[in-house]
Amino acid sequence: MGRFLIGAHVSSAKGYEAMGREALSLGANTLAFFTRNPRGGRAKELDADDVAAFRALAEAHEFGPIVAHAPYTLNACAAKEHLRTFAREVLKDDLARLAQTPGNLYNFHPGSHVGQGAERGIKLIAAALDEVLEEDQQTTVLLETMAGKGTEVGRTFEELAAIIARVGLGDRLGVCLDTCHVWDAGYDIAGDLDGVLKEFDAVIGIDRLRAIHLNDSLNERGAHKDRHARIGEGCIGLDALVRVIRHPALQGLPFILETPNDHAGYAREIALLRAAWEEARG
Ligand code: FE
Ligand code: FE
Ligand code: ZN
Repeated sequence: MGRFLIGAHVSSAKGYEAMGREALSLGANTLAFFTRNPRGGRAKELDADDVAAFRALAEAHEFGPIVAHAPYTLNACAAKEHLRTFAREVLKDDLARLAQTPGNLYNFHPGSHVGQGAERGIKLIAAALDEVLEEDQQTTVLLETMAGKGTEVGRTFEELAAIIARVGLGDRLGVCLDTCHVWDAGYDIAGDLDGVLKEFDAVIGIDRLRAIHLNDSLNERGAHKDRHARIGEGCIGLDALVRVIRHPALQGLPFILETPNDHAGYAREIALLRAAWEEARG
């Protein structure tokens, strides 16, 4: 069955090694972090010694790929040119920094078309990716599945597939499936996980699936709300989320918690999920 990779969002305020130590203290073997303040301010200067210390720690503890998260305010398909330019600059700068930790994942919200229509949004997002992706890139860029709140692009597998199909260096792209978001978008991962993953495979290709954001949802399926709940405290439920981590098609992927939790809460969820995964392995 491979390895179980589980982690949570950790603070990037004290640098890379501190992120690795925080993940270890949670019982995690991967992690996620925001590359900069969500408002999109300047990222902290990288400290080469700190990055080296993190890489040594991650290797010693057999971390899986880590999942950096772009600021969620970034909108690659904004209507205003200066906002799109800003989005491209942030993506480019983040990818340059992530080159210091090669072989990992960088996830971003495709964007909101703000009334221009999904089709125009898809074209703009693909154009932004064409500008920032590089031939020799060692970071896989992940499009996150979205809940469909407001005018979000990426609420269906078809929209994500359409973006990927338009990008020249499309083989540098993957998808991060957020369980809260796909549920809110209308996919029945609680009642028919097999069916949803089959659909993902038919529309996008299951090999594109590179990370899972493991969240429960405060809202009913199809609500298009995007409000995360703690594991087992939402409408998806513990049993369904355990089926996600145990699903044969998802083994070896990093599972990242984005649940509303403090440190102790994350540690509890990680222990609970690890036990559930190990129990299935026998
Ligand atoms: Fe996200
Ligand atoms: Fe997410
Ligand atoms: Zn969300």
